[in-house]
Amino acid sequence: MEKENYTPRTLQEAIVHYSNPDNALAFMIRLRWPDGITCPRCGSCEHSFLTTRRVWKCKGCKKQFSVKVGTIFEDSPLGLNTWLAAVWLITNAKNGVSSCEIARALGITQKSAWFVLHRIRIAMETGTIEKLKGQVEADETYIGGKYGNMHRIKRAQKEQGRGAVGKVIVMGFLERDGAVRAKVVKSIKKTILHAEVRLNVEAGTELLTDNLASYEGLEPEYTHESVNHAAEQYVRGHVHTNGIENFWSLLKRTLKGTYAQVESHHLQAYLDEQILRFNLRKGTDKSRFLRVVGGVSGKRLTYKQLIGRGGNI
Ligand SMILES: [Zn+2]
Repeated sequence: MEKENYTPRTLQEAIVHYSNPDNALAFMIRLRWPDGITCPRCGSCEHSFLTTRRVWKCKGCKKQFSVKVGTIFEDSPLGLNTWLAAVWLITNAKNGVSSCEIARALGITQKSAWFVLHRIRIAMETGTIEKLKGQVEADETYIGGKYGNMHRIKRAQKEQGRGAVGKVIVMGFLERDGAVRAKVVKSIKKTILHAEVRLNVEAGTELLTDNLASYEGLEPEYTHESVNHAAEQYVRGHVHTNGIENFWSLLKRTLKGTYAQVESHHLQAYLDEQILRFNLRKGTDKSRFLRVVGGVSGKRLTYKQLIGRGGNI
């Protein structure tokens, strides 16, 4: 029987602990249903547990459900032991982890590993509506093609006023000493960038950018300060975009080193993965694991309730 509120601290502990199906099930139960098991289909609290198959039979809708129903694990033939180990691996690998590595580490096919990683990335989406504030750096970058001197590429684009062929544009924000956000955008036109600023940054915030003309006109809604990269000016007191640019370089290192080639329609998922790891960089492996696994059923409150209970989790 699982010790109440026990969560492993290392990959090795996680693999050992969750290799016992009862431990994995008990963990998922307290994560999903801290106030008691309810049918994911009809919400009924009346059910009977079929011990041998580890599923419940609902007395409301008369259907059976497992702990996987309504989560990113639903319909997967892989056991919770494999899923939880995969969550641990992807969440705590600083530069990401490839489907080949996951396949080798967990003894599954590369194809399965690829789907596993994509499903876990869904749980890694931040999905917050809270706006950034204080001092916020805003910047755009280009992903794809050759990774060369991004400053030069950006400058050339700004001068030519057109997008680079074969590249995807990503817009990002970094709250100083806080969280990062990033999103694929269609272009660097003023209307698009301004809409992103308003969506992500609280009015009245000090916005720090480079000298891209698209950022002009945000005052007086925001305090706007910029550095002129074209004139080789990168830092003016506290005015710089070094924080978000640091995130871009981490992102590009991961994309280039681990994932080699990312199709543009998958880029947002990889962004979400990198954002989550970056925003939780000061946490422990255990806290990052709990954060991601708390998102598997899209019920983050459940995770918070779990954390709020205190004890050794
Ligand atoms: Zn039901």
